[in-house]
Amino acid sequence: MPRVLLVAATTGYQTRMFADAARRAGFDCTLATDRCHVLEDPWGDHAIAVRFEDPYGSRDTLAAAGPFNGIVAVADRPTYLAALTAEVLGIPHHPPAAVAACRDKYLARQRFQSAGLPVPEFFRISIDSAPSEGAARAPFPCVLKPLGLSGSRGVMRANDAGEFLAAFARLRALLGSRDVAALREAQNRYIQVESFIEGREFALEGVVTRGELRVLAIFDKPDPLDGPFFEETIYVTPSRESETTQRTMMEATSRAVHALGLTQGPIHAEVRANPDGVWVLEVAARPIGGLCARTLRFDHDMPLEELILRHAVGEDISGVRLRDGASGVMMIPIPKAGIYRGVEGSEKASQVRDVEEIAITAKEGQKILPLPEGASYLGFIFARADSPERVEQALREAHACLRFEIATALPVAGR
Ligand code: ADP
Repeated sequence: MPRVLLVAATTGYQTRMFADAARRAGFDCTLATDRCHVLEDPWGDHAIAVRFEDPYGSRDTLAAAGPFNGIVAVADRPTYLAALTAEVLGIPHHPPAAVAACRDKYLARQRFQSAGLPVPEFFRISIDSAPSEGAARAPFPCVLKPLGLSGSRGVMRANDAGEFLAAFARLRALLGSRDVAALREAQNRYIQVESFIEGREFALEGVVTRGELRVLAIFDKPDPLDGPFFEETIYVTPSRESETTQRTMMEATSRAVHALGLTQGPIHAEVRANPDGVWVLEVAARPIGGLCARTLRFDHDMPLEELILRHAVGEDISGVRLRDGASGVMMIPIPKAGIYRGVEGSEKASQVRDVEEIAITAKEGQKILPLPEGASYLGFIFARADSPERVEQALREAHACLRFEIATALPVAGR
């Protein structure tokens, strides 16, 4: 029985999907997480406690629990520890240096630039530096972003020096907040400034095998992402772009994978296309996040998680194909800050033709925060149909049925 190690930063849905997929595939699954204090041993397993801020110590703990046939990281933060552990155990996996470059937007841009990939103008400044210096250097319009966060958190567009200063102050406050400081990541002391790349945006899901990228799916993002914040909403696959544009996107992503040094395992990339070409915004050394993987179903209804696990233990997955038809997801944005009270219209939304599921993940009483400070969604809408147009329409129709009740949160005294 192949043994897989799942290194996870959450004990939520995605981790459970991986564990379930491992069981179904007949693999023995060991979980490592930094959430042991909140874990009620959900699968009757004993999770191994790790600390992502101590990657070498945690690597040794995990290596001692080996041998494993494969290692998979769930979400962004565990990717480095997973890579370090795979390295000492001699398991084919993305190398730690490549994964570190994926997790640092400055390092990634440098790698792309050295490899001759098109990059926006970019520079990095400390959050302790004078914002006016950054504003004086910035190419407008520009984007300010934290180096080490994900999911568009903290990413803001500025069209002029005034907007730059406002965005800088907001980002400094976010990076100084308790939950970001608790991550203790050095790159969270920095802000990256990049010239704004106009264009339409896409996401590519893929697996790298011995350095070669295979793209599993290209997602169109039909809602414009022009700022000032960059909220993901709809993802639809297959792409409606021309064969040529799709090929160019795959080639650009493949070059980015090589530039970063990624060699073995899943990747998720974000790219922009405009008349100047295709620009790789970033490549993450992990699969698509959260519940969104549900949009991808392969032969025999195999979920993405199982495909990744099989790949991780060295199985040949080159013959596995994505199911026919179109599918998509809407990540339901948080319209305003407050306390989530509930939703009306779910029943009606789930009856919209081609809608597969409405998954509301916000919990009643939960404090919610929109972008750029927030890091979550209210939930997800899934649709599957014959055409991408139909999928997009179904997602929009279903979203229009939902009415969210969000109460105003009272400020807590003394904070
Ligand atoms: P994250 O890892 O938080 O997702 P990204 O660097 O991918 O950070 O940025 C998030 C989003 O912000 C992108 O998907 C894109 O919509 C937008 N964005 C980031 N950088 C740029 C840029 N230079 N030009 C235009 N849009 C950008």
